[in-house]
Amino acid sequence: DGAPRVVEVPLGMPLKALLSDVRADQAVLIGGYHGSWLPATEAVRLTLDNQSLAAAGARVGAGILLTPPPDRCALIETAAVVRYLALESAGQCGPCLNGLPRMAAALTEIAVGRQRGQTQADVERWAGLVTGRGACHHPDGTARFVRSALIAFAAEVSRHQRGQCTGTSKRPFLPIPHGSARTEEDWM
Ligand code: SF4
Repeated sequence: DGAPRVVEVPLGMPLKALLSDVRADQAVLIGGYHGSWLPATEAVRLTLDNQSLAAAGARVGAGILLTPPPDRCALIETAAVVRYLALESAGQCGPCLNGLPRMAAALTEIAVGRQRGQTQADVERWAGLVTGRGACHHPDGTARFVRSALIAFAAEVSRHQRGQCTGTSKRPFLPIPHGSARTEEDWM
């Protein structure tokens, strides 16, 4: 019926059984906001366990699968989530103080179609620099989420560079807690 729903499934379940309504041109977020975006065509060949997902660079993580409806732009949604992830850190470690805000700003540039020639290379470099350098794994998970988005949404990134977007609805799909910080000033 198209209504959002939550289902609980056992580990090892074929993702094909869970993604029967998903179109080939959609993407699936596996493992939540520290997880990985995969094209649906790749995800349907896997099962919900780390051994299978590792082959695609994904992992069960938070155990959450999300597929934005076809009328939403997952690139724009991802940029909003990365901004949220960057602002959620207390900024006590170098990767969260310096790397995540830069990655969030770059993702926004890409999402609004204003990326410069170096933007994607910068994101890749920062993702490499922040990984494994924090006191916890928040930077690692955020870098994984960002890198996978740029691969899974490469065609959408090109569309945005040409001033186009496949999303027809601006209604947010990926949830961000109500009242979350929107700028750094919100913490001051
Ligand atoms: S790496 Fe972890 S502990 Fe360090 S600032 Fe980031 S979120 Fe906080």
